[in-house]
Amino acid sequence: MIQKLGKTFWPGILFGIILAAVLCAGPAVGADKPNWKELKGAHFIVYFTGEESFARDVLNSAERYYTRIAGELGYARYQDFWTWEKRCKIYVYADHDSFLKSTGGAEWSHGMAEYNTKTIYSYAWHEGFLDSLLPHEIAHLIFRDFIGFKGEVPLWLDEGVAQWEEEAKRPQMKAMIKELYNNEGLLLINDMMKLDIGRLKTKEGVHVRAALTKDGSPGVVFLSSDNLVNTYYLQSVSMVGFLIEKFGGESFTNFCRELRDGESLEQALKSAYTTITTIAEFEKRWKEYLDQL
Ligand SMILES: [Zn+2]
Repeated sequence: MIQKLGKTFWPGILFGIILAAVLCAGPAVGADKPNWKELKGAHFIVYFTGEESFARDVLNSAERYYTRIAGELGYARYQDFWTWEKRCKIYVYADHDSFLKSTGGAEWSHGMAEYNTKTIYSYAWHEGFLDSLLPHEIAHLIFRDFIGFKGEVPLWLDEGVAQWEEEAKRPQMKAMIKELYNNEGLLLINDMMKLDIGRLKTKEGVHVRAALTKDGSPGVVFLSSDNLVNTYYLQSVSMVGFLIEKFGGESFTNFCRELRDGESLEQALKSAYTTITTIAEFEKRWKEYLDQL
């Protein structure tokens, strides 16, 4: 079975997904130059130079997201140490220009998160900041705090968690994955695990990959680099959503703990989800979940 996906297939939402996805690993930046004012909450300190009302919205939203995300990932019991001097810092620059100048980010970058210092940098843009960038980056930081840097954490899991926690986008993401699934335009999970997404972004031409078909028969999908990356990110969030919605936060915590402690992906799945013992089983169960969407 052959599917062709043209560029026009993709609604605008994916731009948001990719945008959020590519800005995650930030360089070390000098955040001490502007004359920062600050607002302190239980788990966050917001530094800002412009409107205080926007900074207050940022702080209130961040505190709300923290509680929700830690709860949904099942980390709430383990995650009570973002307090006092360990609070997460959020720098809100006055505008895009001053953000770019200070962080040295690329023109398309609207924010970044630094794992090691637990800091988020962005600027006072209203659209997308509170609903999208903030929960995305907080989810990355909470996830990384729990899972650490030693185990092998696949990119789909890291980005899947961060996108899943952009809660407002879930209905759209589900509709899009369902459409791709119905059109047999998704990738096999095993194939997806081997993709080096970082290298893809600059590649021209069409990629021919094995397609995930509904009945399991062999299929092929033709994708531009952009669409392959988009498909990868969309599958990532759906696979994470499946694990969390079907089995809950406690099993997800167990799964992450196994990875953190150095288990392979398959072994971690097996330990946390007794009914999923192989990648093939993971794919089968995920497809059943997609059938029910
Ligand atoms: Zn991300």
